[in-house]
Amino acid sequence: MHHLSIAELAKGLRAKTFSSVELTEHFLQRIKRLDGEFNSFVTVTEQEALAQAKAADAARAAGKDTPLLGVPIAHKDIFCTQGVRTSCGSRMLENFVPPYDATIVDNYQQAGAVVLGKLNMDEFAMGSSNETSYFGAVKNPWDTRCVPGGSSGGSAAAVAARLTPGATASDTGGSIRQPASHCGLTGLKPTYGRVSRYGMIAFASSLDQAGVLTHSALDAAIMLNTLVSFDPLDSTSVDAPLEDYTADLGRDVAGMTIGVPQEYFGDGLNVEVAAKVQEAIDEFAKMGANIKEISLPHSELAVPAYYVIAPAECSANLSRFDGVRYGYRCDNPKDLEDLYKRSRCEAFGDEVIRRILVGTYALSAGYFDAYYKKAQQVRRLIKQDFDQAFADVDVIMGPTCPSPAFKLGAKGTDPVAMYLEDIYTIATNLAGLPGLSIPCGLVENKPVGLQLIGPAFAEQRLLGLAHQFQNTTDFHTLTAPGLE
Ligand code: GLN
Repeated sequence: MHHLSIAELAKGLRAKTFSSVELTEHFLQRIKRLDGEFNSFVTVTEQEALAQAKAADAARAAGKDTPLLGVPIAHKDIFCTQGVRTSCGSRMLENFVPPYDATIVDNYQQAGAVVLGKLNMDEFAMGSSNETSYFGAVKNPWDTRCVPGGSSGGSAAAVAARLTPGATASDTGGSIRQPASHCGLTGLKPTYGRVSRYGMIAFASSLDQAGVLTHSALDAAIMLNTLVSFDPLDSTSVDAPLEDYTADLGRDVAGMTIGVPQEYFGDGLNVEVAAKVQEAIDEFAKMGANIKEISLPHSELAVPAYYVIAPAECSANLSRFDGVRYGYRCDNPKDLEDLYKRSRCEAFGDEVIRRILVGTYALSAGYFDAYYKKAQQVRRLIKQDFDQAFADVDVIMGPTCPSPAFKLGAKGTDPVAMYLEDIYTIATNLAGLPGLSIPCGLVENKPVGLQLIGPAFAEQRLLGLAHQFQNTTDFHTLTAPGLE
């Protein structure tokens, strides 16, 4: 059953080939048996999942038939789940049990999906390798000596190891697309504002966006249909008409114009990755797409601008973790100052502390204009690059990551090397655009991803192109070696 897609599982449930309880038990068994090796789950909600599965079976018997009814999924541990610990990968929230559900969690619950548990992640979603989690690093199912990518590494590893057919994730600078690339998955970051951020623990609020990790574009479209909603509880939620993302997957690729930015194929890109990405673009040309070389001239400024803006926003967002209101509190504080200092120093890991320091510095009087304001100006230029490009092309394609998954520990001591992992994904977040990564081949026996970037609200177009590609190739069906 774990080899079936979400679309097939939904069909099997509808045809009563298996029940949701059988399906849920199957995945729970697999998690128990295999996850020791990958460390992808922080919390497995066995009892709750079985109760939800039972309720889904009963609802189906009573005539309910929504697309995700009884289908198991799992949530990144950044999304608040009422009554279930939500750690955000941090000691700070090690014992935090939210009193409410995130809107997206609620959406899946309304749809009748079964939640298997909460997935490991980089601490507060800061990272590109899933090595900064308080709960330990996640291992890549394709090669357990390697990272799965971050920060949604738990989500990616769990889907790649077929411990869940799909998972939610979040992407502030690449955290859905990058682990999708490293784990051979389809990962979609929707347009900023398309998905509610209510109840998603904030990292950098102007960049954060929830999305999904699945095996195929069809499954991503099915999951997206439930993920997307207008939410008055999120002031940046967009009140645009809801779409059926599965409706237009068959659209013709012929006549579409694909822009290929020269800046995404420069120094630093592994040559074999470049070749696979080029082959994938050639495949689209065979399907009738026009290929056009384009320029996104401010690309090299995306990483430096992001690593000012994201830390600045994180330093403000994480100030609420003060040892007073909720989260970790140090033992025997001498006074209030000591309480703040020790609670934060003891409960935040090195990367989170580094970001808070950088962000506080960039926002401080005297440096604000030089760093934060400048970074925001660069952000505007990056957005304009995309606006100009999309005047001529329908979609932009290039690599998701500069190389296949690297070894655990390989970049641990060099934050800048780690930050450069995001070189092709970050600009999309700065511009608020939708981005999709799909598997397009193996390099060193590890998956690599093709990235598709669209204009705002072009999720359907990206998923349609990906679906057509997946109809003619089988990269998305490959399973990590050694996994039954
Ligand atoms: N790797 C980037 C960072 O560390 C992006 C993380 C993310 O998208 N959550 O900030």
